[in-house]
Amino acid sequence: MSEKIENALTKLPYILNVVDDDEKTSMQNIFANAKSIIDYDIALVYYVNDERLTLKYKQINKNEKDLKKPEDVILLDKFLKKNIFETANSIENEKSAIIKILKIQIKNASYIVTKLYIKSVIFGVLILIKKDEPKYEQEDLKIAQSLGSVVSYAIKDVELSNVFKLQLKALQENVIEKMEAYKTIKEQNEKIMESERAKSEFFANMSHELRTPLNAIIGFSDSLSCKIFGDLTSKQEEYVNDIKVSGIHLLGMINEILDMAKLESHAMKLSLRDVDLIMTVQETINIVQPLADKKNIKLNFEYDKNIIAKIDYQKIQQIMYNLLSNAIKYTEEKGKITVKIKDSKKEIIISVQDTGIGIDKKYHGKIFGKFVQLENIYTKTGSSTGLGLAITKELVEMHNGRITLESKVNKGSTFTVYLPK
Ligand code: ADP
Repeated sequence: MSEKIENALTKLPYILNVVDDDEKTSMQNIFANAKSIIDYDIALVYYVNDERLTLKYKQINKNEKDLKKPEDVILLDKFLKKNIFETANSIENEKSAIIKILKIQIKNASYIVTKLYIKSVIFGVLILIKKDEPKYEQEDLKIAQSLGSVVSYAIKDVELSNVFKLQLKALQENVIEKMEAYKTIKEQNEKIMESERAKSEFFANMSHELRTPLNAIIGFSDSLSCKIFGDLTSKQEEYVNDIKVSGIHLLGMINEILDMAKLESHAMKLSLRDVDLIMTVQETINIVQPLADKKNIKLNFEYDKNIIAKIDYQKIQQIMYNLLSNAIKYTEEKGKITVKIKDSKKEIIISVQDTGIGIDKKYHGKIFGKFVQLENIYTKTGSSTGLGLAITKELVEMHNGRITLESKVNKGSTFTVYLPK
C-alpha cells in the first residue's frame, strides 16, 4: 500500500466526526477535511434515481469562473443511466460521456467519478475535479472510493436524523394539538357542569313550586271531603273527591318527572345507613295495601329473618312502591301478589311476583327504558308517565344492584332486585 493511501485511510475516520445535524454544514465539513486526503478543486454530489440526476451539493475550492454552472437536474434515459452506473468508479477527462452530460467540462482537468451507495444500493455519484497537474491516478481513485463510502454513510446518517427530527416535530405538534383539544374539552366540561348545576337548582326550585300548590289542593280537598268544615251535597262530595284523586295523581306524575331529571343531572344522592329492610318493605306494603284491597288482590310478604342492610331507606321504599303499584295496576281483580326477601351470602334478593297480565318477551329489554309504556287495557287512559321502571332501575343501580324481569303474557310477572352486600 502506498504511503498516500495509508495516510488517507488513517485520516478517513476523522472526516466522519465532523458530521453535524444540519445536512449542509455536515457536507461542508466533510469536504473541507477531505482536502487533507485527496486534492480536488470542485466536488459535486449528485443523487440518482430512476429518471434523473439531481445536484445535491457542490463544494468549490478554486475560482468558479472556469466552471459552467453545473446542471441542477439531468434527465436520464436508459442508456445514460447504464452509462453512469458502469463508468462510476473511474478517472475521466472532459471528453468523457458523463462529463459531457453533466456539462462540467474544464480544459485539461482530471475527473474522478465514484458511486455513493449503502449496502450495494447506489443512490448517487461523487465527482471530484482537479484542474491542475498532476492528473488523478489509480491510487487517487481508491482514496476517492473510500471517501465516497464515508460520504454515503454521512449523508444517510444526516438524512435519517432529519427524518427523526421531522417525526419528533410531528409528534410535538400532535402533543400540542392534543393538549389544546384537552383544554377545550376541559372548558366544555366546566360549562356542562355549570349548566348541570343550574339544571339541578332549577329542578329543586321547580319541585318546591309545583308540589306546594298541589299539596294545598290535595290537603284542602281532603279536608272538604272529610266534612270537617260542614256537610256537602252529593254532587259537591263527588267533585271534591275528583279534585283530590286527580291532585294525587298529578303529584305522582310530577314527582316521577322531577326524580328522573334529578337522576339525569346526578343531583340525586344516596344516603346510606343501616336500616331494617323487612320493616322498610312492610311499610311500603302498608301504603299500597288499600290499593290492593280495592281490587281484591291478596298481598303476601315472605321472608326468613330480619335483615339490617346498608341502604337508602327512602329510595328502597320508592323502588318497592313502584314495583308494588305496578303489580297492583297490571293485575286483575282477585289476583295475588307475593313479595319475597331472601338473604344470600353475597346479596339480598327482593322479588315482587304478580298474577297479572304479564309482559311479552319481546318487550323485556325495553321495559326499563324511559317513557316506555306498553299498550294494554290499563295504560289506555294515558295517565302514567312510563318513567316508573326507568327510575326504579336507576335507583337499584345507584345501590350497585341490578333488577331483572321474568314474565309471560297472562301468566304474571316477577321483578327481582339484587342488592350486593
Ligand atoms: P307506567 O307509568 O306506564 O306504569 P312503568 O315504567 O312503571 O310506567 O312501566 C312501563 C310499562 O311496563 C307499563 O306501561 C306496563 O305496560 C309494563 N309493566 C310494568 N310493570 C308491569 C307488571 N307488573 N305487569 C305487567 N306489565 C307491567
